[in-house]
Amino acid sequence: MRVLVTGAAGFIGFHLIRLLTARGDSVVGIDNLNDYYSVALKRDRLAALAAEAGGRFTFHQVDFADMAALTAALADENIDRVVHLGAQAGVRYSIENPHAYVQSNLVGHLNLLEVARHRQLEHMVYASSSSVYGGNTKLPFAVEDRTDHPVSLYAATKRADELISESYAHLYRLPQTGLRFFTVYGPWGRPDMMMWMFTQKILAGTPIPVFNNGEMHRDFTYVADIVAGVVACLDNPPPDDGQEKAGGSTKPHRIYNIGNSRSEHLMKVVGLLEECCGKKAVIDFQPMQQGDVPATFADVSAISGDLGYAPTTSIEVGVPNFVRWYRDYHGA
Ligand code: NAD
Repeated sequence: MRVLVTGAAGFIGFHLIRLLTARGDSVVGIDNLNDYYSVALKRDRLAALAAEAGGRFTFHQVDFADMAALTAALADENIDRVVHLGAQAGVRYSIENPHAYVQSNLVGHLNLLEVARHRQLEHMVYASSSSVYGGNTKLPFAVEDRTDHPVSLYAATKRADELISESYAHLYRLPQTGLRFFTVYGPWGRPDMMMWMFTQKILAGTPIPVFNNGEMHRDFTYVADIVAGVVACLDNPPPDDGQEKAGGSTKPHRIYNIGNSRSEHLMKVVGLLEECCGKKAVIDFQPMQQGDVPATFADVSAISGDLGYAPTTSIEVGVPNFVRWYRDYHGA
């Protein structure tokens, strides 16, 4: 298969490309290498991919919100399917930088749909987020639950992407799968996310900010489980029987949760990080942050039933894996 992966220098994109190229697929990766977080880390991921994947991986530095630049970058590339992971991520940053989200997450998503439609690609898999569930208090979150009350612009753009995709499935019968990822962590992770920030601060002996006075629950999902789920989806486009029914469920578009399906108390993860770092954390309890939600918990029965998705990595295994990688990468 020849797969276009957007966000190729990003955390999940890196792991996905590793998996695809290892099984023999060819990957065209694109990323604009923006400086939302360390550009050096993004370049290190690309260097590792180039070394491992050799001729099965090609890369273009391009902003996919710029349709002309995107079209030019892909002009000579043959592609069968696309996994669109590139986005402006981060809930808190979206409150300060709204335009970046509209450009990358809305205009960019539309541009990828246009590429997929004009090239008649077999399947577009794209990243959504657990944040679309907003202030839901009914746990676990199921795909059918309410998603019309986002509490951040990031969440609003991810939900809008799902709706735009739905319209393309209806108008053009473009096969698509939207994936709502739940707090992804693991080696080569993101410096703006809790696992990385807490590890860095615990090792340095500086205070870690713990929001909602520690009363937070997250469905932490190990990155290898995420990319296994992405590949299972990529390989199995949603069927299209060509019939519209009341409720619209026969469009070739489906949305799945991908999580670990366990909601862990944040302080349990802090305890695991302390063990792995060999140091006690200095905790700075703080109130709930704007745009945040107290708990996430994925109901994964839909993707498990359809595609056999079964997460295998508990936080007791995944957190030490992350800290080992972090210390090795930083020589810490
Ligand atoms: P990431 O920030 O590491 O990767 C995203 C990549 O997209 C970055 O390398 C960035 O440079 C690139 N990018 C952003 N805007 C671009 C543009 N306009 N043109 C080209 N490249 C652009 O994030 P990630 O953790 O790998 O997340 C991948 C996807 O999964 C994102 O869509 C994110 O919203 C979603 N997601 C992630 C998590 C998580 O916990 N990591 C949770 C839910 C959803």
